Amino acid sequence: MLKQIHFLLTYTCNYECNHCFLYCSPNAKGTFNLDQIQKVLNDAKTIESVEWIYFEGGEPFLYYPVMLKGLQLAKAMGFKTGIVTNNYWATTIEDAKLWLKPIIDSGIDDLSLSDDIFHNDDDGDNSAKIAAEAAEELGYTVNSISIEKLSVQPLSNKKGAPVIGGGVLLKGRAVEKLTEGLPTKSIDNFTECKHEELINPIRVHIDSFGNVQVCQGISIGNMWEKPLSRIIKEYDASAHPICGPLSKGGPLELGRKYNIKLDDKYIDECHHCYSIRRKLIRNFPEYLTPPQVYGL
Ligand code: SF4
Ligand code: SF4
Repeated sequence: MLKQIHFLLTYTCNYECNHCFLYCSPNAKGTFNLDQIQKVLNDAKTIESVEWIYFEGGEPFLYYPVMLKGLQLAKAMGFKTGIVTNNYWATTIEDAKLWLKPIIDSGIDDLSLSDDIFHNDDDGDNSAKIAAEAAEELGYTVNSISIEKLSVQPLSNKKGAPVIGGGVLLKGRAVEKLTEGLPTKSIDNFTECKHEELINPIRVHIDSFGNVQVCQGISIGNMWEKPLSRIIKEYDASAHPICGPLSKGGPLELGRKYNIKLDDKYIDECHHCYSIRRKLIRNFPEYLTPPQVYGL
């Protein structure tokens, strides 16, 4: 039952973190305009189960007026709203309040601030702390996303849960930059996807190219070609060339089905899954997209 729609408002980011799932950077392209946002919201409204609209990226504050208007539109339509930010804009508490006040006034339900060693030096000048203090002075309590130093434990047992605490999912740029030297396990262990509900997605991420993604880089349809409500209604994981094998037997089954065996060992399910998918992009360009999420 689809509950959350996450706008990848932009793939552009002022940072270029090693752990980024999406290969975001200052040069990454793909940003929603307001007409597109309204179209997604109108369509989301026809799906009864959808409760939440999130704006994330990339860094959504780079397109602040569009993000704010999107939050206001979503709220006016009766959705709960949230954003995820790297807090680059929180230079001082007073300045951060200028950025946050209109957002808090919009009635936002979940303000998530990335607060971790990847985004903030622990030198007392932590932008997440500044942003959190500014929010508190405005009477708002924040949530925070914390990605600790890379560990190989699962992030959360709850599928579709936000990235809170624990470790880094090994997909996207993280596979290229963060895997060296970490302990590995036999691929025989990777018989299920532990982090996303691929059969009945709880959330989808949508980018400005129209891709409706059940995991970063796995599309179940393009909403500029077919309404989101129809994509969701017609989605059948077992008929999807990537989600089918993944939901049947995890990355091990995906590799078996398409006869892709690159290594005997990987760090975790996502590392294995992402590595196979990267090899399959040419076979399934409609489903493994956009290419930039694979660093292409
Ligand atoms: S992890 Fe977040 S802050 Fe870092 S590059 Fe990706 S979107 Fe930007
Ligand atoms: S990368 Fe693969 S195994 Fe990991 S959450 Fe996504 S679909 Fe599941």
